[in-house]
Amino acid sequence: MKFDRSIVWFRNDLRIRDNATLFQAVARSKEIMPIYCIDPRNFEETQLGFPKTGYFRHKFLVESLVNLRANLQRKGADLIVVQGQPEELLPGLAKKLGANAIFFSEEVTSEETRVERTLEEKAWAEGVATESYWQSTLYHIDDLPLPVGQLPEVFTQFRKNVEKLSSIRNETDELSTIPFAKVEVPNSLSDEEIKHRLGELRPQPNKVMKFDGGECRGMERLESYFWQKDLLKTYKETRNGLLGMDYSSKLSPWLALGCISPRTIYWEVKRYEKERKKNSSTYWLVFELIWRDYFRFICKKHGDKVFKIEGIKNQRDSWRRDRADFLRWCEGKTGVPFVDANMRELNTTGFMSNRGRQNVASFLVNDLNIDWTWGASYFESMLVDYDVCSNWGNWMYVGGVGNDPRENRYFNILRQARNYDRDGEYVRFWIDELASIEGFDIHKPHELPANFLRGKRIEIGKTYPEAMVEMDKWS
Ligand SMILES: Cc1cc2nc3c(=O)[nH]c(=O)nc-3n(C[C@H](O)[C@H](O)[C@H](O)COP(=O)(O)OP(=O)(O)OC[C@H]3O[C@@H](n4cnc5c(N)ncnc54)[C@H](O)[C@@H]3O)c2cc1C
Repeated sequence: MKFDRSIVWFRNDLRIRDNATLFQAVARSKEIMPIYCIDPRNFEETQLGFPKTGYFRHKFLVESLVNLRANLQRKGADLIVVQGQPEELLPGLAKKLGANAIFFSEEVTSEETRVERTLEEKAWAEGVATESYWQSTLYHIDDLPLPVGQLPEVFTQFRKNVEKLSSIRNETDELSTIPFAKVEVPNSLSDEEIKHRLGELRPQPNKVMKFDGGECRGMERLESYFWQKDLLKTYKETRNGLLGMDYSSKLSPWLALGCISPRTIYWEVKRYEKERKKNSSTYWLVFELIWRDYFRFICKKHGDKVFKIEGIKNQRDSWRRDRADFLRWCEGKTGVPFVDANMRELNTTGFMSNRGRQNVASFLVNDLNIDWTWGASYFESMLVDYDVCSNWGNWMYVGGVGNDPRENRYFNILRQARNYDRDGEYVRFWIDELASIEGFDIHKPHELPANFLRGKRIEIGKTYPEAMVEMDKWS
């Protein structure tokens, strides 16, 4: 069936290339109206007192919307940006503007699917059809070897299954033009009005990755990491790094908002393997994208359980809820330099390496015994690459309430520091007040003689906090 006019409701798919929803809408409609709703619920304060969407992700979203609009305009269309709840706004708007259908991409977690369901009910009540498409994963949900409800709980089994029995689809064909329905939408926000919501821009230190939102920047990063800097061939050796722009792909923020699709990355890996080199590193990037798929399908399989303290393991709640201790962790003032450096990086840039995330999360849940969902909520607010499934899924595993056979996910922080920041360069970069301590000593300032520290104007308990835990246990 061909629709006369359709709304394309953009969500976490802020791109034109390989966007199955947009592609289908264009194929099946005479003209379309691309719309994004800035949903006020995503900007509310959480029970713990921080915004659900913090500054970095907000900034990334603003830039992604402005870029999506520019890209749509280049194809003869435009992006309408309105403020409000999509399920309240879109069905009525469709009716008023004479649209017969609303096209959108499917999400998996409860808040998002509730919105979808309500929108569908309201649209149908207005006589407007809805068409939804799956497109957030590398493997399409319809191509999985088993129905989602029967997928293996353990990552390795999931991976082996899909690698053996499923294949990855091609990207959708490029759209040369997009037929646009020229209609006046009241209260549509201009670029300036979208940017204005963010307030003042914050400065960012040099030597760290600067994340600017939008499909164009995402594709530039891909081009630079794969082709210009030729780093894909060494990814497996460098991926556990901590400092700088290039130890890993840093594609996660663009993946999270859908500025780039995992399939686009996959097919670029294949091209690289053909034209440059194929080795365990090129495979490993795809391996990591399968982790991303795995968490998305686990979330679909287990529904709300992934947000619950008991997790999918139904484990008894025995967590501490000490706000003062939690705040020290959030602020990077635990007195454990490796943890603090990572938290300060997160607070200053919105990003933290995978190695860092595993360490700070383990410290919160295993050493401080604090409610793992608090940590997940803080990450939700702060991370520029926040992805509901990757974040809550990973936290659930660190919290020991996922279905992970590797029971003990405890990280010995000093051993980790020795393995990944042996000369203390990373800690020195982020913790100014300890920067004058040389070598690995920076990781255990509490063991250094008071005289020596005084000579460097460092006083434990004053210029840098006492450690919240006995650090001897890691020696
Ligand atoms: C407690 C915790 C919370 C996390 N929260 C998020 C989150 O909100 N959003 C997010 O994208 N990732 C999250 N991760 C996973 C991982 O840390 C990031 O994906 C990675 O650090 C992003 O950097 P990169 O793009 O350079 O990754 P690369 O190493 O270059 O990997 C390429 C891509 O693979 C995917 N990937 C890699 N590792 C994982 C993983 N463990 N789980 C799921 N996908 C993965 C990401 O999409 C990533 O962009 C979390 C990990 C932990 C331990």
